[in-house]
Amino acid sequence: MPDVDGLWADFARPIATAEDYIASLRGRRMNVFFMGERVPEPVDHPVIFPSINAMAETYRLASERPTLGGVHTPIAGLQTNRFLHVPTEPADLVAKHEMQRELGRRTGTCFQRCVGLDAIGACHSVTFDIDAANGTDYHKRFLAFLKRAQTANIVIGGAMTDPKGDRSKAPHQQTDPDLFLRIVKRDANGITISGAKMHQTGAVNSHWLIVMPTMRMTEADKDWSFVGALRVDAPGLTYVVGRQTNDTRAVDGGPLDAGNAQFAGQEAMIVFDNVFIPHEHVFMDGEWQYAATLVERFTTYHRSSYVCKTGLGDVLIGAAAEAASHNGVESVSHIKDKLVEMTHLNETIYSSCMAAAYRSKPLASGAYLNDEMLSNVAKHNVTRFPFEIARLAQDIAGGLVVTMPSEKDLQNNEIGPLIRKFLQGRQGVDTVDRMRVLRLIENMTIGRNAVGYLTESLHGAGSPQAQRIQIARGMAIDDKKARARKLAGVEERRR
Ligand code: SF4
Repeated sequence: MPDVDGLWADFARPIATAEDYIASLRGRRMNVFFMGERVPEPVDHPVIFPSINAMAETYRLASERPTLGGVHTPIAGLQTNRFLHVPTEPADLVAKHEMQRELGRRTGTCFQRCVGLDAIGACHSVTFDIDAANGTDYHKRFLAFLKRAQTANIVIGGAMTDPKGDRSKAPHQQTDPDLFLRIVKRDANGITISGAKMHQTGAVNSHWLIVMPTMRMTEADKDWSFVGALRVDAPGLTYVVGRQTNDTRAVDGGPLDAGNAQFAGQEAMIVFDNVFIPHEHVFMDGEWQYAATLVERFTTYHRSSYVCKTGLGDVLIGAAAEAASHNGVESVSHIKDKLVEMTHLNETIYSSCMAAAYRSKPLASGAYLNDEMLSNVAKHNVTRFPFEIARLAQDIAGGLVVTMPSEKDLQNNEIGPLIRKFLQGRQGVDTVDRMRVLRLIENMTIGRNAVGYLTESLHGAGSPQAQRIQIARGMAIDDKKARARKLAGVEERRR
């Protein structure tokens, strides 16, 4: 029998602080690669560490503001991080979104914990529904797993997106069956899985992963229809950390050139080579009919989680205002108007995400789920508005964002004084401070954290068309047409 208790032995002492969290990542002997080289200790890697530090901010927030970053959970009967909490009333989802905005403001990047949180929410209700229909015990297993996770106060990552290969084919139709993560063996103790997951946010910085199907399945896809939890350092796992724009400025440019030297996001490809999961950590095994429900509930939670981008928007709007102030033009009318436009777009995202939380409804398990239509509208706003906010920030900041000399030039005895002389703005503004703000704008609009602010806004939690499909499903066009006919008198004339 597998030693399930042994899998939790490292987590006997709960993680209480950000420092505890960072220490907990050390010495795990994970198989991690970055830029063609094995990374023996990710915590010590200068390009990877800013992403760990962004994740650590979720623990700092819980320490500093326990009612925002933390919550009392009835499942474990103790205070835990809000990223481990199942929402059981609209106020939980409202608080979650307030926390996500605050973390976006603090980090200016993706803090990586929302996929795991939203996986927890979706698994809670879907395991309940499967058990109610089939008499299985997945919900009990899931609650036991979650109770341990909440007690240990660990980071759970969510792994959903498969490589998918030929997008026109189902998992069982692919030439290579590994293009969707699958069960390759079942025995009395558990399941063994192989394949891969792509774009996995914060995977290397997590303690455990919940793996889930990525889309609707058919009966022939039973071996691809499963949910399970596993340690990130389980035997058979390999991680390839994704390249990000300007990521090596962490090592070749100095903190000024990095733009945001403290924080960054992280995505990795995870390869699973015959990875074992004991039954105790399997929460769906072949119930292909529930794959679509799981994905829809996950995306409904996760699309509203993109309220995180309003925190980043707050930072970028602030940076644009600072840049204008440094140039002595903050009170010029068109600058003020652009700042108003940026704020309007940012708050429009916020309003749709918060509305989706306030309008949440209970599911059979007792978990609350965001309003599906409003959540899709929120995410659809996120696929567009940050791009316009970024464009306006660059408009206000000017071309120096992309033509500015490096920090090394600034430190050069011969040309450093020339840079200080000719890059000065209005009187009283430190030239280097001006450069720092411009580098932050570069970082968020075309640099390392544009990965999170822009492209991830486009494709994370489903690309724009995925939201349009859901919006089309819920738009009740026949009802709207009937209302129009009634007011126009069309129905009366027909009678
Ligand atoms: Fe959370 Fe936003 Fe990062 Fe997704 S993109 S994990 S919602 S911070």
